[in-house]
Amino acid sequence: ILITGGSGMVGSAFNRINTQDHFFALLSSQDADLRNSYAAGAAMHDWEPDAIIHLAAKVGGVKGNMERVAEFFEDNILINTNVLKEARHYSERRIAAGKPPVKVLSLLSTCIYPDDVQYPLTTDQIHNGPPHPSNFGYAYAKRMLDVHTRAIAQQFDMHWITAVPNNIFGENDNFSLEHSHVVPALIRKIYDAKLTGNPVILWGDGTALREFTYSTDIANILLWMVQNYNDPEPMNIGNHVQHCIKDVAELICNILDYPYDAILWDTDQPTGQLKKPSDNSKFLQMNDFKYTTLYDGLKKTCDWYIANYPRVRGVS
Ligand code: NDP
Repeated sequence: ILITGGSGMVGSAFNRINTQDHFFALLSSQDADLRNSYAAGAAMHDWEPDAIIHLAAKVGGVKGNMERVAEFFEDNILINTNVLKEARHYSERRIAAGKPPVKVLSLLSTCIYPDDVQYPLTTDQIHNGPPHPSNFGYAYAKRMLDVHTRAIAQQFDMHWITAVPNNIFGENDNFSLEHSHVVPALIRKIYDAKLTGNPVILWGDGTALREFTYSTDIANILLWMVQNYNDPEPMNIGNHVQHCIKDVAELICNILDYPYDAILWDTDQPTGQLKKPSDNSKFLQMNDFKYTTLYDGLKKTCDWYIANYPRVRGVS
């Protein structure tokens, strides 16, 4: 199974899957810059995968998405178009040689849903209005990944599929203060405060509710989907348990042995939307999956962070 984005947070979680039955070829941008179609085709030619789990993307936080919105659109459109188009050509060569077509599973994100949407998020709403203005370049490129997947499934009768995770966290995340997501940002800030004695200042009042899924769970679910899911309709796969940001911060404080009461909440800054629940009932009807608890996932992530500090992406 060829994993594009294999050096990233989700891709590297495939190293933690316990299986004798599969070999994962983890591809980084150094191995193949997928903005280049020749590189994408060459990767398939070299590895001859039976399946492709397409994770590679230009990913970032709010700041990066806003300041470099055109690059987020261009890079992701190019990466996705090249991977799917080259995989289609590769699949046609396999069929001509009497082999089954390659299966392709691509990752979308709950942040591509419309800004004005009915909760919980259901996949039939993905294209029902503009995404949040802060990430429209990334979001429209991801939406086209859904469109491209469906078009190939329809025209070429291939069971290509997409999955929609919510906030993912885990080992090998990006811990940059400027470009990280909420969990790595909290771990970084709290650990820095422990080392330096400087206070932790967090935006808002911490009451916003969010869903979080541990990266190894996502890797296991994607492997299951490649083998068991054939519907071109995307499927929400994230853990639907909601946690307020305050509780996430408190868990991380407990794990890192830092006093939670020392955190300062800057309530002049926005708290964010109160909640953004997603509906994963279709997945849970098909698979009795037991998600890793938030505490257990955070503990593994923090232990990894401490063991690797400061040689951690976004720190040094
Ligand atoms: P990371 O930023 O950790 O990893 C991104 C991966 O994409 C890296 O392997 C990177 O390679 C690769 N990549 C980037 N640009 C290129 C390129 N031009 N050519 C080839 N490879 C490239 O991202 P995550 O692991 O967090 O995300 C994986 C997927 O999950 C993405 O599709 C993302 O949209 C999706 N997702 C992530 C969520 C999250 O909370 N993190 C939430 C929902 C969806 P290199 O290391 O060489 O730079």
